[in-house]
Order: sequence, then structure tokens, then C-alpha cells
Amino acid sequence: MQPSLEKLRKFFRLEHENGYANSAIIGGLAKMLDFWEGEARVDGVKEEVIQAVVQRLRSYDGLSPQSRADALKGLWKRIGDTYPDTQQKQRSVPNNGEGTQQKPRPSQPTPEYPKQEQSQPKPRPPAPPRSDSVPGARTSATPAALDAKLTVLQGVGPRHAETLTKLGMHTLGDMLYYFPRRYDDYSQLKPIKTLWYGEQVTVIGTIQNVTTRPIRGGKASIVEVILSDGTAALRLSFFNQPWLANRFKQGDALSVSGKVDQYLGRLVMNSPDWEAVETENLHTNRIVPIYSLTERVAQKWLRGLMKQVIEYWAPNVPDALPESVRSSARLMPLAEALLQVHFPDSQDKLKAARERLAFDEIFYLQMGVLRQKRDWKSAEAKRFPVADEWLGARLAGLPFTLTSAQQNALNDIRKDLDSGQPMNRLLQGDVGSGKTVVAALAAGIITSNGAQVAILAPTSILAEQHYRSITNLLKELLQPEEIRLLVGDTSEAEKEEIRAGLANNTIKIVIGTHAILEDPVQFAELQLAIIDEQHRFGVEQRAQLRSKGTSPHLVVMTATPIPRSLALTLYGDLDISIMNEMPAGRQPVNTYVLRPQERERAFTLLRGQIKDGKQAFIIYPLIDESEKIEARAAVDDYETLSKEVFPDLKLGLLHGRMRPGEKDETMLKFRDRKYNILVSTTVVEVGVDVPNATVMLIEGADRFGLAQLHQLRGRVGRGSAQSYCLLIPTHENAAENERLLAMAESNDGFLLAEKDLQLRGPGEFLGTRQSGYASGLRMASLTDVQLIEKARTQAQVLFEKDSDLSRPEHALLAEAFARFWGEGKGDVS
Ligand code: ADP
Ligand code: MG
Repeated sequence: MQPSLEKLRKFFRLEHENGYANSAIIGGLAKMLDFWEGEARVDGVKEEVIQAVVQRLRSYDGLSPQSRADALKGLWKRIGDTYPDTQQKQRSVPNNGEGTQQKPRPSQPTPEYPKQEQSQPKPRPPAPPRSDSVPGARTSATPAALDAKLTVLQGVGPRHAETLTKLGMHTLGDMLYYFPRRYDDYSQLKPIKTLWYGEQVTVIGTIQNVTTRPIRGGKASIVEVILSDGTAALRLSFFNQPWLANRFKQGDALSVSGKVDQYLGRLVMNSPDWEAVETENLHTNRIVPIYSLTERVAQKWLRGLMKQVIEYWAPNVPDALPESVRSSARLMPLAEALLQVHFPDSQDKLKAARERLAFDEIFYLQMGVLRQKRDWKSAEAKRFPVADEWLGARLAGLPFTLTSAQQNALNDIRKDLDSGQPMNRLLQGDVGSGKTVVAALAAGIITSNGAQVAILAPTSILAEQHYRSITNLLKELLQPEEIRLLVGDTSEAEKEEIRAGLANNTIKIVIGTHAILEDPVQFAELQLAIIDEQHRFGVEQRAQLRSKGTSPHLVVMTATPIPRSLALTLYGDLDISIMNEMPAGRQPVNTYVLRPQERERAFTLLRGQIKDGKQAFIIYPLIDESEKIEARAAVDDYETLSKEVFPDLKLGLLHGRMRPGEKDETMLKFRDRKYNILVSTTVVEVGVDVPNATVMLIEGADRFGLAQLHQLRGRVGRGSAQSYCLLIPTHENAAENERLLAMAESNDGFLLAEKDLQLRGPGEFLGTRQSGYASGLRMASLTDVQLIEKARTQAQVLFEKDSDLSRPEHALLAEAFARFWGEGKGDVS
């Protein structure tokens, strides 16, 4: 196991033993991120794992003990998905208790425990080389000396150099970008004399005296240390850690953090978190960088080396960022930022330095995204002008009036279709906001001009549903045989017929699943591609569909709202229409979290609704009990529910192991009210539209992600009647689960998406497919909306002035940009 993961395991175990009081580390578990993140990178831990840890621990403090337990367990399991070896039971770690007779105890909550680290037999995986891949780190103006091997430095022999490559440092240039993992701020210390009872503080002093005395008749012991900083002395007590008596030496400097307590009128600290301090730092009175280390690299040695290199070379690093950008974004020059990030003069300078370095990362990302957009827009596309009367007649024929959000989205699309450039639009609308009709109208515009449309959906249930509603919405424009459904289950004969019809342009719209993407499917005149629930598809599939036409227009739709910061970064090459309005008459779904014992109440509500002619969903996380987790399973419970609980009602069963044909049949029967209740797994999750359903009961709700829960809830509340979402967790104590509470609090998909991003971090939020872009970031965070917007604005302004970066003042930037992106990193979103 990687040392950093091993460390994590220890802290988690300690936290578990402390009853999830967020006390395994002084100041809270989030504090460990100061050092852990850097160490994990050095260990080569996968970025998505690091991000998952960072995100969970950041929000840890705000959780209830039960949610904390959930969070840590979930996180550890997540780590196990990537590193299965971490899940093996560990022998308990020896506690360095030299000569102690105590029962084995878990390791102490001390963040740094070098002895334990050294005892780990682990070859660390080499870290990747750094500055070359850092945006803006290298251009032709970069002094050649920065390419020099580390052996040019005094005191660094080949063996040392070899060791440093493990930290990712191959050249002097790499050293500039080997950032400290945290800092010790000696400029803000509190004198002991000024401490107050009850305060939570860090103080530094030298050890005056160390004594050990037995307590409880010799069954336990206390090590007492008198720490003085010249202003006053403080008594530290450490219970049951007798080995500390050997560790602490008179005259040693110690940094201790903890709560100031009182004992017999004097100020004391009980079992504070402590760390040895290098004495010379004490007197320099500044912010000292702490670097991630590896075997045979001492902090002091590395810091000295860094100081040499940084102080000499940082001022000589050319800044590729044009002066205009730097001044209008009020950024620190690169040379100064590199100096300050290693050896900050103040917290303010450090912050400015970090912001500058983070800006570079996002800026290059944004430039790439904008270039992508520009390239896409430089293609020519067929124009599809729309007459007002024509559109008016279509709208008049609809069974409802469009919401203004739908109207706006439609206007956006109308403009795009008549722009002469391929439309590339993301239609983001919360579940139930009515995206389908907008897509149908766009399709109608195209087919009225004799061209073809392909509509891609992730599941056959959804494709079939779109097929029915779009056929219905466009019935005045198209004959039934001009719209066809193509899914995996479609018979070979029919597929053949559809392929022929698409090739000779007698079929105008094809709606289907991945089957549409197959090679033999060719279009005579594909001018619009629509992808529903686009997050279910990869970039390749989007490209595949596009390639079936020549620069066709594209609309991608999603009901998983993407927080603004992420949308700007990842979907920056798309134009975005947001539908943040529900059709009139909809009532927000009432959501309740019930304890498992309250299931009967849920059933009562459900019966009442069914008596009123409504229908209900009951969702289970799994299809059968064979997957040895304690989760109620659809197949088993379907039996019980239909025989014992609701013998008088008609129940349907839907799950992923059924054949697509069977699934569709069940869905149709449910839609046609042949069933009162549909017992299902999450196959209904995406897009299914049965407006008569008013109850969504979710069993094992704590096992679902927030986005998924919101999607499931979106299956009800689609008509005008009040609807209900009932969440029943697996265990009573999971009723405090953070996601469930968030669900009960809000119906707003955008708000929940922000929350989800916070809880899970960008890596998991996006899934691995799209998270690659987040992993290049070392300073910036994808949740930093302000920084992202700033970088985006700057990139836009720059491209407007000099779209191919050909001006002399942009030469360095052009070079650095090309180096970072290479010849196009493909479709960003
Ligand atoms: P989603 O955005 O989740 O894909 P749908 O397109 O499936 O939503 O629409 C949800 C439901 O709302 C459908 O039953 C649809 O007929 C209905 N609907 C769409 N637009 C309106 C509107 N403007 N007024 C009333 N009902 C609408
Ligand atoms: Mg939909």
C-alpha cells in the first residue's frame, strides 16, 4: 500500500475509534490535507482518488457523526476500487511503545511520525516529470540552464539526483515547480503569556523539563513537559504515551497545537498535537515551506537546495503571459510568484502567488476550449431559416404553451440554425423542464427543409418514449413511416429497411440507441444530430454521430445540471441554453426521509394516491439478493409486495436483466395504467415520462448518489397533481445521510449539482471519462468559479484581439500554448 494511503487508513481508524468526532487530527481531519495531498502525489496515487479524498475531507467537518462514518467508509471503499490491496485487513501497527506494558493502542494522532514511515518497506512509484507539462512553464526564452540536471548543484551527487527524480525533479526547471505541500507560519505565533483558557492555539517553545509519573496506582502514566517560549511556560500532559519521555529532550524546540486548559489555576495543554521544530526557523520569523519527501531526503536539506535554486533562477524565468493579461487580471509576475510560492514574505504574497500559478492552469485550459470552439465555428453549415408563421402554426398545434425558458432555448436554436455555422449547443434543463418538445421542434425545422435528423438516447426505453412523443408532436409534418425507431432489439429485417430509408432520404428522423451509431447506418442528408442525456455518452460517440453528416448541427441535452464553474471549463466549447423553469401548474415534489421502521407510513400514502387513480414507483438499488449486500432487492421484494403487501393491486417489475423488449412492454403497460405500481431498479432513472405517477418510493436510498436521486425524483411531479418522493435508507442511522437531507431540502437540480460536486469532487462527479482535465491541475480547483470566470474572460478578450496569437507580444504565449495543448487534445467536452 502507498504510504500516503496507509497514513489515511490510520487516521480513519483513529477517527472511527474516536466515534467520528473529527478529532483524529487537531483542527479536524481536513487539516491533514495540508500535507496529505502532496504526499499522495509523490506516491503516484491516482488523481481521481486524491480528489475524492480532498473533497470528502473538506466537507467532513460539517457532517453529523453518522454521515462522517458514511463518508469515510464510502471513501475507503472508493479507494479500494482503484487500489484493491488497501482493503486487506492490516495487522495492527506497532505503536513505537518502547518498553511499555500497555495494551496495544492505535497509533497516536500525530500527523508526522517519521519512524513509522521509515519502517514501511515500499518502493515508491516514480512521480511524473513536472515542469514540461505545466502550462506556461517553458518556452524558447526559458534559460537553457533550467534544463540542467540536478547534479550541477553543489552537494548533489548522482545518488541524490536519482532520489530527487522520484519526487518528479529531473532538472532545475522542475524544482521551480515542485511546490511546497504546506507551510509553517512562524510569523503569526502567539506568545504563551497571552494565551487564554479555552483557546485553540499553536505555540512554539523549547523544552525545559520532562517528567513521567504513574497514575491510577501505576496502571497508567503521564509524561509532563514544561515548554517555554521566553514569555511564559506552559505545562503539557501526555497520557499513556510513556515512550514520549525518551523522545522529548531538554532544549529541543517543539510546536504544539491544542486547546488551552486549566489545572490548579495554571494553563496546561492535554495531549496536544506536536511536532519537532528546526530551531533556526524559530528565529527567522517567517513562513517556512514544507515539501513532500521521499526516502533519504531530509526536509532541511531539500529546503536548502530549493532556496539556492529558487532565489537564483526564479527571477530569470520569462513570463509567457502577456503584460496586458497580467495587468488586467491583476496577477503577480511569474518570476515573483515562483519565488513567493516557495519562500513567501507574507500570507498575502503567498495567496497572490498561488492565485497566479492557478490562473495559468485554468487560462491555458480555457484557451484550448475556446480554440476548439473557434475551429468548430469556422466550418460552414447549411442554413435553415424559419418563417414566423410556420413556427407559429407549430406552436399553436402543441397541447400546451411553451414556458419562457423553452421559448428562449428554441430562439437560441433558431438563430444557430440560420447562422451558417454548425450549431453546437448544450441544452441544460432540470428533469421535467420539457426538453423533448424543444428538440422535436428543432427536428421539425430540419425535416421541413428536406434534410434528416438523428436522435440518440441512452436506453431503449427512452428511445421508444421519444419515438412516441416526437411522432405525436410532429404528426402534422411527417408521415409515420418517415420517423423510425432503431434500437438493439429491432429485427434485422427492419434494420435493413431503416438503413435503406435513411440512405435514400425517405426516412427523415431516426430515433434510437447506440444502434444508430453502427457503421452500416448512413444518411443521405444528416443535418441535425440530437443527443439526449449526453453525459451517458462519450466524446467518441458524439464525434461518431456527427461524422455521419457533413458539419451537421448538434444539440446535446442533459438533465444532470452541471455547476456553472464546471460547465465553463468542460463545456466551454458549447453554447449553453439553460431551462431553469418548470411548465406551469407543476408543484414541487414533497420529499421525505423515512426511517425503515416507518415504511408502513409510506405504504399508506402510496395506497391513498392509488385510490385517487394515481400510480407509484418503488425503486430498489439491486435486482436480487445475490450481490451480498444488505440492500432490499427488487426481485425478492416484488414477490412480497405483490403477494402480501398489495395483494389487491397490480404490480409490474422492471430491471436491467430483462430483455429490452420485455422492458418496453412493462413500461408501456405502466404508462397505460395497467399497473398501479412499478417495482424497478434504476433503469427507469433516465428520462422516463409517466405524468400520472405521483409517488416515488426509493428503498436503500442512502446507496444512491445525489444526481441519481434527483433524476429518480424527476420521474414524478410531471403532471399537475402534488407528488411525493419517499426516501427510505438501508439503516435507521443512515437517515441522517447528507444526500438524503439535501434532497428533502431542495428540488433545484442546479443547487443539488453544486452540492454533489462539493461532496464528491470533480473526479467522481464527472466520472472518469471526463475527469482527465481536472487531473492536470495542481494549484487550481475546478470549484473555484471566480478564478475560472476570470481566466475565461481573459482568454476571450485575448482571442478577440489576436485570434491566432500571431502578434509579437503574444509570441511566448503562442509557444507555451502549443506546447501545452499539442496538436489539439481533441474534443474537450
Ligand atoms: P425533460 O426535460 O425531463 O426531458 P420532458 O421533455 O420529458 O422533460 O417533459 C416532461 C413533461 O412535461 C412531458 O409530459 C411533457 O409533455 C410536458 N411538458 C413539456 N413542456 C410543457 C409545457 N410548456 N407545459 C406543460 N407541459 C409540458
Ligand atoms: Mg428527457
